[in-house]
Amino acid sequence: MAADSTPADGPPTGRGPAANPLGHGPVLLLAGARLADGRVVDVRISGDRIQAVGTAGSLGPLPALPGGPTSTTGARIDLAGYLLLPAPAEPHAHYDLAFSAALPAPAPETAAEVTRRVTEAALTSLGYGATAQRTHVRIGDEHGLRRLEAVLTARQSLRGLAELQAVAMPRLLTGAAGADGRAQLRDALKLGATAAGGCPDLDPDPVGYVQILLDAAREADCPVDLHTTAADPAALARLATALAPHRPRVTLGPCSALGPDGPGVLAHAGIRVVCLPHNGWCTGVEGRPSGLRPLLVAELAKAGIPVAAGGGSLRDGANPVGRADPLEAAYLLAAGGGIGVEAAYDAVANQARAAIGLPPVRVDAGFPAELLAVRGDSLAGALAGGHSRLVVHSGRIVSRTSAVREFADTVALALPRQSAPE
Ligand SMILES: [Zn+2]
Repeated sequence: MAADSTPADGPPTGRGPAANPLGHGPVLLLAGARLADGRVVDVRISGDRIQAVGTAGSLGPLPALPGGPTSTTGARIDLAGYLLLPAPAEPHAHYDLAFSAALPAPAPETAAEVTRRVTEAALTSLGYGATAQRTHVRIGDEHGLRRLEAVLTARQSLRGLAELQAVAMPRLLTGAAGADGRAQLRDALKLGATAAGGCPDLDPDPVGYVQILLDAAREADCPVDLHTTAADPAALARLATALAPHRPRVTLGPCSALGPDGPGVLAHAGIRVVCLPHNGWCTGVEGRPSGLRPLLVAELAKAGIPVAAGGGSLRDGANPVGRADPLEAAYLLAAGGGIGVEAAYDAVANQARAAIGLPPVRVDAGFPAELLAVRGDSLAGALAGGHSRLVVHSGRIVSRTSAVREFADTVALALPRQSAPE
């Protein structure tokens, strides 16, 4: 497959005053896009919001803008052949480790190098459509706040392209051994970490860890986003009970070792879950057989637990071939998770947004203009292989991917076209 564009049959092109629609002005018209329910519509965006949605052809041409009809502050994008969706989000990543699988070991780690890898990882995921992303980063011990500072530098440079959130993860918080973690956590939240996190299972006193974390989160008025791989229902119940007072600002993941009682325990506590389809059910956790059976996501959803799905690792020690494509996570859920295509996409879109504290998106007037256009005419088709994409964040087109697949003339051409965008 070659990355290219074809004028007649290729990716969407701007037809308004702005020749290159990336970085266009405050008004954007997405014309002729198909929605997941089958309607073909025009969508007008003003600022960072969807202003209007109407039947195809009903919203053009662009309105006169301040500055007159020759204003270059708008663009019209033809999205015929594209499916328009609420943008996905990445609710659980480890970007400070991204691409580390290819590094020579032991790798010298500089702040600039971590910032570069975090930025590259975030842009990779953005290109696939994730306009909001949350990454977990270790603090304390030998790391201090260096990795967090590198992530926050990347966050700053990505402003306007994507929203990047950082979760500070101290290793220990209780007892004398946790003194450094407690101090570093408070400093991390003051520095700008979005949420308090970590893995209570690694602390000798998991409930004590949660209580210290919640105190810090309340003080900083921030959410909590924790890891657990607890398999023992009693241990999970203690954790869930300790976290319950802070809901709905609690997210728990990847829950990759849940036993049969796990969904009931989490449902009782009313805690939101982020699962990682790429990491959990294939490899197991820490040598244990993986408890995240393919149907577990369906069991969680059936128990009434809001379930989001994320990518987790991106070409690091846990997953040397991560892709950071939310549609791939949705594909894995739909292919092996026992849930429908719509629910699978919701897990990487609005459930993922909710898991990181963001409001829902619908392709409807008044909603945030966080959108993904993907080549195809159905959600199932998009999850199966929609390569050409256009990404809108905060009302701006921030990324466009164009793919063309070509076949040699000698192939029997029983296809409608010799060359078609993917
Ligand atoms: Zn993680």
